[in-house]
This record gives sequence, C-alpha cells and structure tokens, in this order.
Amino acid sequence: MDKQKELAKIAEEIGKCRKCGLWRRATKAVPGEGNCEAKVMLVGEAPGFNEDQRGIPFCGAAGKLLDKLLALAKLKRDEVFITNILKHRPPGNRDPLPSEIEACRSFLDRQTEVIEAKIIITLGRFSMAKFLPQALISQVHGQPRFVEFGGRELIVVPMYHPAAALRNGKIIAEEERDFEKLGSFLEKLEGKEKVEIEKEEKIEEKEQLKLI
Ligand code: URA
Repeated sequence: MDKQKELAKIAEEIGKCRKCGLWRRATKAVPGEGNCEAKVMLVGEAPGFNEDQRGIPFCGAAGKLLDKLLALAKLKRDEVFITNILKHRPPGNRDPLPSEIEACRSFLDRQTEVIEAKIIITLGRFSMAKFLPQALISQVHGQPRFVEFGGRELIVVPMYHPAAALRNGKIIAEEERDFEKLGSFLEKLEGKEKVEIEKEEKIEEKEQLKLI
C-alpha cells in the first residue's frame, strides 16, 4: 500500500466532509500531518483558532508546548504523525459533541490503520476515551496500556492535553515528567528490553461512545 497516497485520499475526503455541521463555520479542515511510517501517532482533541486558519494540527500555543514535550521524549515532529479526534474546529473551541465524534470516527480509524503506528499517544480526555473509555486521566496519565484496536494490539499512552498543562502549573510539571518517562520507555522498547505494560479490557466502540 502507498501510505502517502492513502493518507492524501483521506485528507481530501476530510476536506469535503459534510457529515456534521462543523465545516460550515470552519476556515480549513485539519486532517493531520506527519510521517506516514511513524511508529508513534499523537491524537489531540480538535483544531483551535490557529489550526483552523492554517490547516495544520497543533500549530498554536499548545503546539509550541507539544514540540518541547516531544523533545523531552527525544521525538521530533517529523518522525511522528499528529492528528485529532475532530478534523474541523468546533465554534469557540467548545468540547466535541458525541455526534461529531461519531461522524468523524472513520477518518481517524482509517488513518490509524494506514500508518500502523505501534504507539498512540492520546492528548486529553476525548482522545483517551476512544481507546481507554473507562480510564480517568488523573489516575492513568503517562502509563502505557496494551489495547486491542482494529484487530491489532496497540500501546496507548494517555497524556494530559498540552492546553490543560498551559493553564495549570501542577499539570505542566507532571506532563514534563510523563514525556521524559515516555522517552525512556521508547528507548527500552527499541532495545527490546522487557517493559511492564497493563492490558486493557476490550470494549466495543459503540459502548465507548456512551461513556464519553
Ligand atoms: N488542540 C488540539 O486538541 N488539537 C490541535 O490541533 C490544537 C489544539
């Protein structure tokens, strides 16, 4: 499969998507960007003002912090793939609605399937809920979990959303520690060292939506 081409096709469909009403007030769709061979994929919530203007994920203040956090994990932006649960901006950056998450779901599922990243880093509670619907971010942040998704076993690492970290000094300190720990975890995985990872119980995605 030509991953680049598949991702471009998904991005084109996202640009034309009318499955929910968000496109009406959006400037640009934000399909996501990055390395199509990425081993690590990051999933945020939804585009904000800057992302909507430029069509690029995490390019505002939260994105600047995300770049610093990635550096703590010894990751570069051009080696990961970054996307969001929603591909159009919700007005005033309000929370995504369950109907919007459902309307957008197949795009993220297909991106996940094409890229085949082994590790998914969720940023904030909405993307965490897709993979770990029963988890509480305050209890599980920074802890890798095995999750069965789309017939594959993934490692999901739930992280606080960088925007939450920008608002709260305590969260930013925890977030920095979590990304440093992520760097050591990735090094161990790369070196085929033994790592302890909990396994999450499988829950049907329809059930997951009810829990958001
Ligand atoms: N917040 C998100 O969740 N995603 C972005 O792309 C930007 C800010």
